[in-house]
Amino acid sequence: MRQNENIPLVDLKAQYLTIRNEIDNAIESCIYDTNFIKGKPVSDFEKNFSGYIGVDNCVSCGNGTDAMELILKALEIGPGDEVLVPALTWIATAEAVSNVGAEPVFIDINLNDYTIDSEKIEEKICDRTKAIIPVHLYGCPCDMDTITEIAKRKGLYIIEDCAQAHGAEYSGKKVGSFGIASAFSFFPSKNLGAFGDGGAVVSNDTELADKIRMLANHGQLKIRHCHQIIGRNSRLDTIQAAILNVKLNHLDAWNQKRIEASIHYKTRLNDFKSIEIPQPVKNKMHVFHIYAIRSNVRERLIEKLNSSNISSGIHYPKPLPFLEAYSYKHHNLIDFPNAVKISNEILSLPIYPEITDLQIDAVCKAIVNN
Ligand SMILES: *Cc1c(COP(=O)(O)O)cnc(C)c1O
Repeated sequence: MRQNENIPLVDLKAQYLTIRNEIDNAIESCIYDTNFIKGKPVSDFEKNFSGYIGVDNCVSCGNGTDAMELILKALEIGPGDEVLVPALTWIATAEAVSNVGAEPVFIDINLNDYTIDSEKIEEKICDRTKAIIPVHLYGCPCDMDTITEIAKRKGLYIIEDCAQAHGAEYSGKKVGSFGIASAFSFFPSKNLGAFGDGGAVVSNDTELADKIRMLANHGQLKIRHCHQIIGRNSRLDTIQAAILNVKLNHLDAWNQKRIEASIHYKTRLNDFKSIEIPQPVKNKMHVFHIYAIRSNVRERLIEKLNSSNISSGIHYPKPLPFLEAYSYKHHNLIDFPNAVKISNEILSLPIYPEITDLQIDAVCKAIVNN
């Protein structure tokens, strides 16, 4: 490898080049067919993706945030209701709750894998609580056994946010198959990404899925101009679906390569004292959307990486309760000690299926060397 070759956080071009012909042919045939909205690739993708996750229904939509909002709407969650969400995630998780008029109630994360702390859930449940949204953060499944048990006992819906965890498994079952419904995003950099925005809801509840399909398509289900409810427009377009059909066939191999990259990082960084690296958790197949290490000398590591032309990221610098958008809740730092600690220490290193061992070696060398 050349001395100062830039190593990006993600490399979408490298992925495209491995499947260029397949993708170009798929796009070209969409253009030739000119069936840009609700073409056959869309219904094909819905069938392929629900089959992949192992659920009965998939309803594609405009993006992952819409997917979450459509689920909440269809479950008639709104003003006066509360929904439990982790304190550390992408804003979209809480935003969807706020946008249907319900109140997001934040739960701290655990220090082992940074997903929602299942031991802190029950204390936040009251008679307004309607649902819980476990986020499989960075590609790591949440503690679904405990969460399922609590949700059952308290009569809450589980809505999974799978935007970072396509193909991740908990106890041998794919995430997205545990909740009443689950939201996926196909934002370009996700493990399964389109060439633009895209999203989907998956669910075993066919009645609910039909309602979501109606909501996403102006309130009409099968018969045109028969608008039964007030819906909206949120669609996955045909070209994006055609791209996703091609990419879905490669998802398992790509996830495997991400896992191999994480193992290579581990062998290089395990003995380095000033950082903590992700450790395997029983029953959880992590698909490493993000490879997040922790360090209390983070700024120094970022400088070292920068000077070696290596990109890094922080997911996320501020827990949601402390963003200006949620300042009306007047939370204190001590309300979410783990989320605060992690947001101060977390650092995302480059990871993508095509990353080479040499590139990983270069990243680790930049970190370990003074
Ligand atoms: C990306 C993401 C979303 C939203 O996806 P969009 O398609 O960008 O709307 C939701 N939740 C999490 C955790 C995400 O990472």
